Amino acid sequence: MEKSANQLLDKLLANQYEAYLVGGCVRDRLMHKPVQDFDIATNALPEQVMELFSHTIPTGLKHGTVTVMLEGVAFEVTTFRKESAYEEHRRPQQVEFVSDLQEDLQRRDFTMNAMAIDLKGTVIDPFDGQIDIAQKLVRCVGNPNERFEEDALRLLRCIRFAVNYGFRIEQATWEALLQHAHLLKFVAMERVRVELEKMLAGDNPYQALELLLDSQLLKYVKLELQFPFIKWKTADLPVYLRKLSQLDNPLLRWALLFYSMQTTSDKASRALKKLTFSSKQLKVIIPILNLEIWLHEQIDHALQAKRTPDKNDHVALSSSRVSVDRPDLIWKQAAIQFGKDTLLDWLSIKQIEFSELASNTSLDLKQSVFIVFLRSGNEWISEMPVETLSELDLIGSDLLTHFDMPAGPWVSEFLQRLLLDAAFGNARNQKNHLLKRAEIYRKELNKHE
Ligand code: ATP
Ligand code: MG
Repeated sequence: MEKSANQLLDKLLANQYEAYLVGGCVRDRLMHKPVQDFDIATNALPEQVMELFSHTIPTGLKHGTVTVMLEGVAFEVTTFRKESAYEEHRRPQQVEFVSDLQEDLQRRDFTMNAMAIDLKGTVIDPFDGQIDIAQKLVRCVGNPNERFEEDALRLLRCIRFAVNYGFRIEQATWEALLQHAHLLKFVAMERVRVELEKMLAGDNPYQALELLLDSQLLKYVKLELQFPFIKWKTADLPVYLRKLSQLDNPLLRWALLFYSMQTTSDKASRALKKLTFSSKQLKVIIPILNLEIWLHEQIDHALQAKRTPDKNDHVALSSSRVSVDRPDLIWKQAAIQFGKDTLLDWLSIKQIEFSELASNTSLDLKQSVFIVFLRSGNEWISEMPVETLSELDLIGSDLLTHFDMPAGPWVSEFLQRLLLDAAFGNARNQKNHLLKRAEIYRKELNKHE
């Protein structure tokens, strides 16, 4: 990648243009971090760049950006520009091209992002970004009040760079950030999400939460829902959130976060949608929250049944008696209803919550049941013979043929019950056995009719 970047610079220089690597790639290189993408700044105009290279995509002509494809790698080549007319605290739609690199660097947000490197490796660093990197400081280029006022996305970028690199925020920059926190409401939700996702996926997600709360930035993310979380002070954060970084999958970090808010999964779902999370992401996060609620209900129910033993304490759908003495049965039912992945995800989240319980905390009965889940959950999962309808050795049409009855809701009801039977070991997962079992249900059905 580096070689292609140099080739690209070389070609621009050979055609009498100026060209430099700029922004994030310079920062990352100087910090000895892996470089994600190479941005190139040049005094060549977009049309001139397009003339020079055979594979180009006019990705952002209005902003002076052309994507150049070289040896399968995409490079963003942007004409030196300045951004003067900021509207509604966002970066402008139109920009003004300038002839000078210095002016281009000046429009950038933080000193560590306002450096360039030429082909010879000389660093152009007019705002002392290297000193700030050495001192581990995030500092705005120029007047921080103006910078945040111009483009409110920088509020989040500031926190993101600080936490992801383990930097402090320079005093004047921090004060300006506090003063302009309210401007965050002008930032498109999608961009807010991208920044929050990057922070939460980084090495210091807990520090991100602390800074987001200390700065009150979250208050200005227009979720139209008030979470207790937003009103929290750093001191109110549940201690187990300090272990957020132990979850490798960033989506589980989000799940733990919403879990810690003890909100309903409906509210969580609305908030995540508002934040423009994809339905694929929601499908990971929301079932975990639902499972937690479901398990509480099941355990409450079973505890109740234990207290009044001769009450009708069958859990709906199940043909086996679910009791707190047999948490594995609750668990198996959960596996069928929520799927193995969600169970594993829930386990890793619960693990974190419980690992932070003080050793002298006396557990209530429900917590003890959860401890059993944590100890044996993985084992139970590996032992489960079947957990989804597709694994069942029988399909709906087998039932229709066997009973010669018209299709109706009974088919899926029978299938669900048979699945539980197979999972609970009440019937072998073989068509003949399952059909025998189904005959019992058929008789029950007749009785009701
Ligand atoms: P990363 O790619 O790691 O998310 P980055 O700093 O490279 O971080 P990009 O969005 O790739 O972020 O932007 C490239 C460069 O453009 C930045 O380094 C910075 O110089 C400039 N830049 C990006 N966003 C802004 C902004 N909102 N205000 C000012 N300059 C910005
Ligand atoms: Mg970048």
